[in-house]
Amino acid sequence: MRLEIDNLSRTYGTQRALDGLSLALPEDIRCLALIGPSGGGKSTLLRHIGGLEVPETGHIRVNGEELPRDEEGLRAYRKRNGFLFQSYNLFPHLTALENITLPLIHVHQHTRESAREIASKQLERFGLAAHGEKYPSQLSGGQQQRVALIRAIAANPGILFLDEPTAALDPEMTVEVLELIRELIRDGQQILLCTHEMGFAQAVSDRIAFVASGRIVECAPAQQLFEKPVDETVRRFLSRVLEFR
Ligand code: ADP
Ligand code: MG
Repeated sequence: MRLEIDNLSRTYGTQRALDGLSLALPEDIRCLALIGPSGGGKSTLLRHIGGLEVPETGHIRVNGEELPRDEEGLRAYRKRNGFLFQSYNLFPHLTALENITLPLIHVHQHTRESAREIASKQLERFGLAAHGEKYPSQLSGGQQQRVALIRAIAANPGILFLDEPTAALDPEMTVEVLELIRELIRDGQQILLCTHEMGFAQAVSDRIAFVASGRIVECAPAQQLFEKPVDETVRRFLSRVLEFR
């Protein structure tokens, strides 16, 4: 994906979540990770790029196209993309398979048969075929989140937006989910990811943007940002969060 953001601001009450944020990524990026301190503005930025919120001021261009501002245009834009958040993603009263087919039928106008075929294929692809008829409560947290990921990619999204997809999971389950995300990236999926998983961000992202106080403090290729951060705030943050690894 190519991304140009110009002077983006967003205030909630008296809280400035985004403060004239700008970012230019004219090259084609496969995976962009947003990292930085809690409350820095990562999720707000992700929601704006994903078309879940309309900018108060500023512009966002994704792949050369200015994001729509009208509800109908935004709905169409969101439909072309996929989303996954921290947790509580699945409908508890539907099986894993039904969770995946539901949006295919109701949002993407697939027939029931075609939706079931897509869902079964994707469950198979990611080693979850045996769990299709189970309800979320019968699955582990990692399995639930993998089903939610499959639901998010079932309709071939242009960009997959992931906001701390493993934050609510145990280490083992985190690994299951990260492996799936890495596989998606290898298969060509474009991803925008907010994460606290520094090792993962470094391993899979082409670019990492450090977001703090509603701005991009530094944006660089992963290795460069982790090994030679230019900004003092980034340096301090990284040395703190990497201290016990
Ligand atoms: P991050 O994802 O980096 O932790 P957020 O984007 O969630 O940061 O938040 C940035 C700031 O905006 C925080 O101070 C947060 O409290 C505030 N904020 C975000 N969303 C809302 C909202 N819907 N209502 C009120 N304040 C919000
Ligand atoms: Mg967040």
